[in-house]
Amino acid sequence: MVPRIDVKNSIARKSFTGTLEFSFRAEQGLLDIPYTELASPVTAVLYYEILADDKVEVTGTLTFSLKGLCSRCLEEAEEKIAYEAEGIFSLSPKDEEYGYCNGLIDLREFLRDSVLFALPSRLLCSSCAEESE
Ligand SMILES: [Zn+2]
Repeated sequence: MVPRIDVKNSIARKSFTGTLEFSFRAEQGLLDIPYTELASPVTAVLYYEILADDKVEVTGTLTFSLKGLCSRCLEEAEEKIAYEAEGIFSLSPKDEEYGYCNGLIDLREFLRDSVLFALPSRLLCSSCAEESE
C-alpha cells in the first residue's frame, strides 16, 4: 500500500518532517526490456519536509530487483536496483513539480515516474556486465 502524506494534519501538529517506509507493486508494463520482469515489490524509504508556501519536498530511495534473461547472451540474470528519488509537491505546480490538493499528497504518480527513471535500458548477467565495464 502506498501511504499518503497528510500535509494539513502535519502542519496543524507543527510536525514538518517525516519518514515513510513501505513497499508496493510497480506495474510490469513500465518495463521495456524483453524477457525481463520486476522480481520483487519496490521498497521505498522516503523522507518528506514541508517547506514554505505549502510546498513539500520528498526524497528517498527505491529498491527493487529485475529478473529475466540477459539482453546480450540470454543467460539468466538478476539485477538489484537502488534509485535516489526526489520530487516537489505544490498546490500550484510548475514545471517538474507534482500537484496535490485537499492537504493530502498522493505519491503514486511520483513513484511511477521514479520507477520509470530507475529502470535500466537492458539487463545484463554478471559475466556480460563485467565485459562491458
Ligand atoms: Zn550475459
